[in-house]
Amino acid sequence: MDESSLSAATRAPVSTDQLDGLVTVLHLVRSGQARTRPELARLSGMGRGAVTQRVAELMDSGLLVESELGRSTGGRPPRELAVRAEAGLVLVAPLGATHLAAGVTDLTGRVLDFVVEPGDIAAGPDATLARLEQLFDQLLSRTTVPEAPIYGIGVGLPGPVEFASGTPVSPPIMPGWDGYPVRARLSERHDVPVWVDNDVNLMALGELRVGAARNQQDVIYVKVGTGIGAGLISSGRLHRGTQGAAGDIGHARVDAASGIVCRCGNVGCLEALAGGAALSRDGTVAAAEGRSEFLGRMLAAGQPIAAADVAVAAEHGDPVAVELLSRSGQLVGETVATLVNFFNPSLVLLGGGVALAGDMILASVRETVYRRSLPLATRELRIERSTLTPDPALSGAAHMVLDELFSRQRLGRWLPVGSPSGYPEIAEEPAA
Ligand SMILES: [Zn+2]
Repeated sequence: MDESSLSAATRAPVSTDQLDGLVTVLHLVRSGQARTRPELARLSGMGRGAVTQRVAELMDSGLLVESELGRSTGGRPPRELAVRAEAGLVLVAPLGATHLAAGVTDLTGRVLDFVVEPGDIAAGPDATLARLEQLFDQLLSRTTVPEAPIYGIGVGLPGPVEFASGTPVSPPIMPGWDGYPVRARLSERHDVPVWVDNDVNLMALGELRVGAARNQQDVIYVKVGTGIGAGLISSGRLHRGTQGAAGDIGHARVDAASGIVCRCGNVGCLEALAGGAALSRDGTVAAAEGRSEFLGRMLAAGQPIAAADVAVAAEHGDPVAVELLSRSGQLVGETVATLVNFFNPSLVLLGGGVALAGDMILASVRETVYRRSLPLATRELRIERSTLTPDPALSGAAHMVLDELFSRQRLGRWLPVGSPSGYPEIAEEPAA
């Protein structure tokens, strides 16, 4: 937003000190660390008067509300502050390699409604985003708070995304998406700011805010789906790296001698040997060669063999399927062990369709990581499955948008005009 659009402001522009206070108050209330004015004063180091002022401004703006009833301790009960959830909506869309999810959340990031359907990201951006726009329209037509403005849109993509511009960059499994202006397309249609990130980053962020990684400082989220990737939480924050590529472990070379060519064009990538596409490929070969009775029956019936089928075969005790999954878990585990030694997290979360199909991959990853990591690095390490359903990236995408909107860098650009709706340029990096 430039200075001229601020002239349409309905409230006075925000001074620097005031902005710092507003951002701090919002952060402490959103994170649940503070619920009352005395708690805000204690945690922020701001004076009581300043806290009262900032809270009043945020209540005037419709972003905070206070409840009538606080916990009574005998005297006058303190009034509890909260984000006014229904003040606005966030549209979210974590897109996977083989599915499309779309949802709508409130201003606390709570998912109000969502749809998930099969979808091939390789169909390209036009087909995929056109379908996504239909899903957004469906969700908005049935929302229970139709009068609430849309505050922003958060999209996840199964490939590398330059976070500042919201642009996919040379994504290996997404033909046609390289450099596609996802942000511009969606912000033009809805006239709101749009942020785009890698899907695994959003899964990690979702688990950090509302899932198993809540209150953890250092976490690695590993997705084993069609592809493989990781999201990093460092010191309680999502670590995207300089461009947004942090955690892209799927194309680490784990076995050059395998000769297996990855979709990225390199040989021996982790994803090409251990991801869902690899399980499907190796399961099909085993079936064709008569090494797996279970998968052989599927192949004979003309059914394609997916990674999920290999997991089902393993649950039925098919030895080849067990071998394939345990090898996949071992390869993922070896890479994760390197990350554990390097990064020393307290928690590794395993998610993605392949990792969550049965217990075998989790068991194999655990066994490998504990065996291959330094004792000090695993002393308090837990390795668990991701449990947020249907997709932690739905919550993650909402929190990405809310974190950006309520950041020091952006809050002052829209608060004077009431809401970020109608100001898509807020998502762009402000000129230095
Ligand atoms: Zn690769």
